[in-house]
Amino acid sequence: MKILVTGGAGFIGSHLVQRLLQEGHYVTVVDNFDPFYSRVAKEENVRSYAPHSNLHFIEADLSVPSTYSLLPNSLDCIVHLAAKAGVRPSIEAPMSYVQANLVATQLMLEYAVKTGTKQFVFASSSSVYGLCENAPWREDDGHLKPISPYAATKLSNEYMGHVYSNVYGLRFIGLRFFTVYGPRQRPDLAINKFVNQIKKGEVVQLFGDGSTLRDYTFIDDIVDGVYRAMSYEGSQFRVFNLGCGNPVKLLDMVKIVEENLGIPAIIEFTEEQSGDVPLTWASIDRAKNELGYRPVIKISEGISRYISWANGGIGSL
Ligand code: NAD
Repeated sequence: MKILVTGGAGFIGSHLVQRLLQEGHYVTVVDNFDPFYSRVAKEENVRSYAPHSNLHFIEADLSVPSTYSLLPNSLDCIVHLAAKAGVRPSIEAPMSYVQANLVATQLMLEYAVKTGTKQFVFASSSSVYGLCENAPWREDDGHLKPISPYAATKLSNEYMGHVYSNVYGLRFIGLRFFTVYGPRQRPDLAINKFVNQIKKGEVVQLFGDGSTLRDYTFIDDIVDGVYRAMSYEGSQFRVFNLGCGNPVKLLDMVKIVEENLGIPAIIEFTEEQSGDVPLTWASIDRAKNELGYRPVIKISEGISRYISWANGGIGSL
């Protein structure tokens, strides 16, 4: 297939591109090396799959209309992962999220229609559920309660995807990722931060009392779900949770990191942060039934793989 992957210099994107090239696809990657985290880390991500004869890498900003003249005229599938991620920073700087997540996705959808692309896979987020009380969260739950600008942009993107599937016949598949972790994980995310802090003997700050629950999902399972969604041929518009289906307490996650490193953490409890939800928990029945998605990596194994990668090993499948 001829595939466009946006955000391919990022954490999830770099794993996906690696897999797509391994499977023999032609891949165009667009990424603007957004300064949300270091360019050096993103260049390292790109080195995991580049150079490659089936790869075309474009450094450009997808929220700028002129970027689209640099992109291919014909594609089998677009996987739109580029976004500003992160809940708390979106409260500080909502306009930059509007630009990167709303404007860029709107332009991507228009580009998909113009190029006659049939399949549009979009990286949504568990954060769209927000304070939804009906856990485990199901895709058909109408009581979504997003509590950050980031979450609201992702939900609007899904709705706009519905519009484009209805008006233009584009197949739009929204994948709600649940706390993805593993090698090359974003530096702002908990497991990456905690491993570094514990190794250096620094204080680990836990927001709240450590009882918040997260449905941590290993990167290889997520990539497998995305790969399956790329050839999904069911409805013209479908949303899927890609989680593990098994929430883990923050303190238990820290315990697993401590055990794997063989170093005790110095923990400091601090105030809960606005935008943070107490629980994320995916119902993965729909993804299992319709995509054949089967997450296989349990948290203890995933953290052990992450640490082996962080220590210079391979860590991923
Ligand atoms: P990431 O920040 O590592 O990757 C996103 C990439 O998009 C970055 O390389 C960035 O430079 C690029 N980008 C941002 N704005 C851009 C623009 N205007 N033009 C071109 N490129 C741009 O994040 P990630 O963790 O790999 O997340 C990938 C996607 O999955 C995002 O859409 C994110 O919101 C979503 N998601 C991630 C998680 C998670 O736990 N990591 C959970 C839910 C949803």
